[in-house]
Amino acid sequence: MSLLRVEGAVKKYGTFTALNGVSLAVRPQTFHGLIGPNGSGKSTLLKAITGAHQLNGGTIHFAGNDVTRHSSYRRARSGMSLKFQITSVLPELSLFENLLLAKQASTPIWSQMRSGSAAGLREEILLDLQRFGLRQRSSDLAGVLSHGQQQWLEIAMAVSQNPKLLLLDEPTGGMSLEERRATGEFLVPLKSATSVVIVEHDLDFIKTICDTVTVLDQGKVIFDGRVDELDASEAVRRVYTTRA
Ligand code: ADP
Ligand code: MG
Repeated sequence: MSLLRVEGAVKKYGTFTALNGVSLAVRPQTFHGLIGPNGSGKSTLLKAITGAHQLNGGTIHFAGNDVTRHSSYRRARSGMSLKFQITSVLPELSLFENLLLAKQASTPIWSQMRSGSAAGLREEILLDLQRFGLRQRSSDLAGVLSHGQQQWLEIAMAVSQNPKLLLLDEPTGGMSLEERRATGEFLVPLKSATSVVIVEHDLDFIKTICDTVTVLDQGKVIFDGRVDELDASEAVRRVYTTRA
């Protein structure tokens, strides 16, 4: 049973076809990599999955429902959370306050107040920060964090909404090797509760943390399978050796 199933997705920008019949499925508690050359349609596919863009053709099923025509708001409410390629933390607020806002965006504050104490909410936020190595920094302003730490804060904000599916668009962009490795270590424990679709250029990163992978090229799927089958794919080798 899939948590997410995309079938025959078509997305056009004017006369240009960015997604040309893309299908993929992601099971619960699975990390799924999405790779391919620049412009192959990865970000477009993530936006279509979350509802930021509507498809011109094809269907999207999520958690047993056809969400193809659902708004992004409704999809978020049903358990999708997206971290965009660009950072959107609020630099003038503390890490704690950024997390609090993210939680309020997903759950009305009055229902949180009713279901638990303020101290409980505070501890939950500190635990969200702790997962990404940021607990000690909770009262610092987000603007003073390094680029890598800001990315982690933003993932923590997405994770704090307890999504069934977390979509990450190049979360390690601009990170050092050390920060990339730490990112993998922070993400892996999420697998017990969440599926992740992750766009990433670093093939080693994908091979280390993902179970399954889809490779796009010019809006089409050229590989879909387990990560350990990637190396044997002639189509993938061709794209990565001739154009990467
Ligand atoms: P990737 O994330 O794989 O690099 P994108 O999904 O961002 O690729 O883009 C796929 C193709 O669609 C590219 O050729 C890009 O120029 C085009 N594209 C993306 N967004 C838009 C848009 N809003 N309007 C027109 N063309 C777009
Ligand atoms: Mg992109």
